[in-house]
Amino acid sequence: MFTKRPFLLRMMLAVCLVLVLSTAVLAGQKYIFIAIGDGMGIEQIGLLDSYNNYVFDAKTNMTMMMKEASMAVVRTGASDSPVTDSAAAATAIATGQKTNRGMVSIKPEGSNLTTIFETAKKKGYMTALITTDTVVGGTPAPFAAKTKNRRDYDSIAEQYIALGVDYIIGGGRMYFVPEKEDKGQKIPGRKDGKDLLKEAKDKGYTVVTKLDEFEKLEKAPKLIALFADKEINYANADRDPTTQPSLQEMTEIFIRLASKEDKPFIAMIEGARIDHANHNNDAAASIEETRDFDAAVGVLYDFYNKNKSNTTLIVTSDHSNGGMSLTCYKDKDKTICPTYEDLHNLKRVPFSFEKALKTLDSIYKGIKSGNPGMSEEEAYGKAVEQLLEEHLVGLHLSAEDIKVLRTKKVDLVNQYNPQPSVLGKAYFPMLFTSWATTYHTAAPTLAITLGKGSENLKGFIDNTDIAKTLFSLVD
Ligand SMILES: [Zn+2]
Repeated sequence: MFTKRPFLLRMMLAVCLVLVLSTAVLAGQKYIFIAIGDGMGIEQIGLLDSYNNYVFDAKTNMTMMMKEASMAVVRTGASDSPVTDSAAAATAIATGQKTNRGMVSIKPEGSNLTTIFETAKKKGYMTALITTDTVVGGTPAPFAAKTKNRRDYDSIAEQYIALGVDYIIGGGRMYFVPEKEDKGQKIPGRKDGKDLLKEAKDKGYTVVTKLDEFEKLEKAPKLIALFADKEINYANADRDPTTQPSLQEMTEIFIRLASKEDKPFIAMIEGARIDHANHNNDAAASIEETRDFDAAVGVLYDFYNKNKSNTTLIVTSDHSNGGMSLTCYKDKDKTICPTYEDLHNLKRVPFSFEKALKTLDSIYKGIKSGNPGMSEEEAYGKAVEQLLEEHLVGLHLSAEDIKVLRTKKVDLVNQYNPQPSVLGKAYFPMLFTSWATTYHTAAPTLAITLGKGSENLKGFIDNTDIAKTLFSLVD
């Protein structure tokens, strides 16, 4: 009996030692999420809240979170302009330093910055990039790569594998595989012939490019999952849910897989195409994308609620874009303002402007090849007529609008993509959404934070303050 006592004592001491050691390893916050709605302004959050409320009788996760979260208004400007781009903004969020537009975790004069993922990896964290954009796009890139030019996509992809980013989930397959030709068809890919997916497999990554394979995954400590050559399609009728996941689904599957590994992690989750829709002044696509982002936030919020003691969740945006307003107009002497019923019209836009313009193009080519003698102008006019009759029912386009669609030229200095913005303007009487520009704006964004570190993200902050909190959490 007595001889067992020292043994028990030794065991208890050993257990204590293990506990002390494991606490030392996990000094930082165990689970860290930074969710970025790209180009998402308060305009999108506000309209989503009404849209969810009146069209779906549903709550908005971001506005629910706000009831208990730390709230901050965020200054977003870059080093060289108060109007930032995604790369400079994400550099600020991922390194704590400002840089010029277009630069990825490099100072304006060219020296390298330390990214949060580099530091997190050194501290034993798993890292994750999840996006509806190409995974090498301007927002994910600064978390794990460095380059003067955000369009160095091939190099960014290589840098991800070199750093060993553990979960890479989204679009952009063409930056990981060599260019190929199949039965005379060019399959887009890298010009240098490198097969990064093969390299990654050799390094222990699970690689999937099919949605059903992704959905079936039960265990993957390192994963590359790519579902499109470039971006994932817009979250409205453009996206085929049997071949491409929503941001919500990618987030759910990431959490399922990462939770099985006994390791802390930091994940960047980006709703990328809110930005693309805003550049196109496409309100319906913008709001559907914001809805998908918000659903992903819902997944993170659930996770936070189940793991409050060791999770930090930051939801923010890199910049605003487009200056969308839900507003009124004057018809003869009458002011017409939207009713709540009018919010349903957002659901009635059949697909994105991007798809509408592609459809128009293929209708035009069909008409032109069937009628070689017909003038370009006449064939285009007939194509627009067909597009409106078959798809964009109820939309009116003036002769001037059709000319802009055909020539891609407009007399306004601030429109860099005139075709979709013509559609945006034409939809105004139906959707009541007016746009100031097709570019980013300098409007501050919001940061909504729950968990440790949230005490630092209050009031009016700079986007670099988000990085300071992230670094303090992995320390
Ligand atoms: Zn952006």
